Amino acid sequence: MHPVLAGFLAALAVGPLVLPEFYVTLLNYIGLYSIVALGLVLLTGVGGLTSFGQAAFVGVGAYTTAFLTTTPAAELPAWLAVFGSSPWVALAVGLVLTAAIALVLGFLTLRLSGHYLPLGTIAWGISLYFLFGNVGFLGGHTGISGIPVLEVFGTELRESRHFYYLIWLVLLGAVWLTRNLLDSREGRAIRALKGGTVMAEAMGVDTARSKTVIFLIAALFACVSGWLYAHLQRFVNPTPFGLHIGIEYLFMAVIGGAANVWGALVGAGVITILKQWLQDVLPTIFGASGNFEVIVFGLLMILVLHRAREGLWPLLTRLVPTRERARSVPAAAPLPRGVQAGNGDLLLEVTDAVKKFGGLVANDRMGLSVRAGEIMALIGPNGAGKSTMFNLISGVSPPTSGSVRFRGEEIAGLTSREIARRGMSRTFQHVRLLPTMTVLENVAIGAHLRGRRGVAAASLHLERSEEAQLLAEAARQIEHVGLAEHMFDQAGSLALGKQRIVEIARALASDPCLLLLDEPAAGLRYLEKQALAGLLRKLRGEGMGILLVEHDMDFVMGLADRVVVMEFGKKIAEGLPEHVQNDPAVVEAYLGGVD
Ligand code: ADP
Ligand code: MG
Repeated sequence: MHPVLAGFLAALAVGPLVLPEFYVTLLNYIGLYSIVALGLVLLTGVGGLTSFGQAAFVGVGAYTTAFLTTTPAAELPAWLAVFGSSPWVALAVGLVLTAAIALVLGFLTLRLSGHYLPLGTIAWGISLYFLFGNVGFLGGHTGISGIPVLEVFGTELRESRHFYYLIWLVLLGAVWLTRNLLDSREGRAIRALKGGTVMAEAMGVDTARSKTVIFLIAALFACVSGWLYAHLQRFVNPTPFGLHIGIEYLFMAVIGGAANVWGALVGAGVITILKQWLQDVLPTIFGASGNFEVIVFGLLMILVLHRAREGLWPLLTRLVPTRERARSVPAAAPLPRGVQAGNGDLLLEVTDAVKKFGGLVANDRMGLSVRAGEIMALIGPNGAGKSTMFNLISGVSPPTSGSVRFRGEEIAGLTSREIARRGMSRTFQHVRLLPTMTVLENVAIGAHLRGRRGVAAASLHLERSEEAQLLAEAARQIEHVGLAEHMFDQAGSLALGKQRIVEIARALASDPCLLLLDEPAAGLRYLEKQALAGLLRKLRGEGMGILLVEHDMDFVMGLADRVVVMEFGKKIAEGLPEHVQNDPAVVEAYLGGVD
């Protein structure tokens, strides 16, 4: 354990014994807010999904327990009355209810892209708030009072210093679960969301599922916070669950540092203390009481976004000497491999593929084939339709008509995830690595489909043996492509040529028999191109089939076994590189034209 963390935990433990009541209460609220902000770190900071509506989930947790624990058993439905008015049963009911609401809302809003998702969360944040205020049995705007005290192991949590330990244990437990989750196969899948859906799906990640998972976890954390809040206050009304509080939670995550679990605590701490202080100070300046702190928060948010985009946490960690990260990969049994193709086997066969964008025919009855142990190059001038072809093979966008057969099976119309599972893997024209993750973690994303353990196992770290196998496989592929010395470097710190090679290692980690490379030489310097060509020859020698979509004629000529040339969506030549090079149609269309 880091000495700073140990010191922090020790201070937390003795805090309530030495601090005055006022500060203990303040710490209780910081703890409660941190639990919600932690969910937002996962959802927004890590997963890239912005939600303004978390306060509504806090409200679900708070109102569920308020209602169930204050309503006489006789007035409850029979199935609930059996459990009496226990707050613990109310917590379970609240969690189930929250999960159900989150699943429905997630289904409706998570498919929205760009600004529509935050707008969607605002809409349901407002709706739930008005629901709390207008449903008769929830007490309307007056709310519900007389919520019983919690009892833990026979101790009544009547005083704030008693409640304190429960809140902070829950929070630290949630931090532990979240950290475990992020440091796992499922966590890498969640972090891959920021690399874009196309990349994550190509690595076999079910992005809709990953998004739902983090949405659900964030909602459940908020619900637990609400449950604690209700029993701490012993009174609820709709005010703390409104949209402006939802925005405040987002402030906390962003200002604290939404990319790190501890950022949630920093943000909740800073905002809560600041708010307390501003509420005391501002009225003495402006003379009247009002929500002036909101203006200050707004300014603070702008300042942070301009000056410290990653929030305060990274600034804090700079002050503390960090310890060297583990620089070894644990030994593990190799992962089982899929069925291998024999050298010369036909892997990919595209026939009569047509892709239309409205009136534009981007691919017109295109055909090509790739065998195991050969490099097939698809070349053509800009706008010829190469990327379109690449996308219809890899499942990003299906052909309008025609056939794509992979190892004898028709795959036209399958999703890129289903195609990846069958042994085809790809790289991207514009490198899509996660720049702040290590090379090892980036490559391990490629092995996603070779692991099976889910979110629950990951959160509890019960999947360590599988995780070791996945990391060992990633390390093996990194060595394979010759980047062992960069294994623990941040992917974003490498030169472009090496980043392209990391992408190849990531593709190899999925155990493919066919590699699809989209313009791998674009933007590379001469020596980098040489290194890339050397690697591709080595992979070919090992029996890999490679489809190379390329613009750079010289790069292709020394490397490819066969070449297909296209122009205006049509195939204009096919054959050995030296033949194609001298074909008049090719010279006319490609070599002679403006490059
Ligand atoms: P290349 O990769 O060979 O440069 P592309 O496959 O990207 O060519 O593009 C081929 C043609 O299809 C171009 O005219 C391009 O404008 C058009 N095109 C590509 N993608 C789309 C799309 N999603 N919608 C409409 N037109 C597209
Ligand atoms: Mg292109």
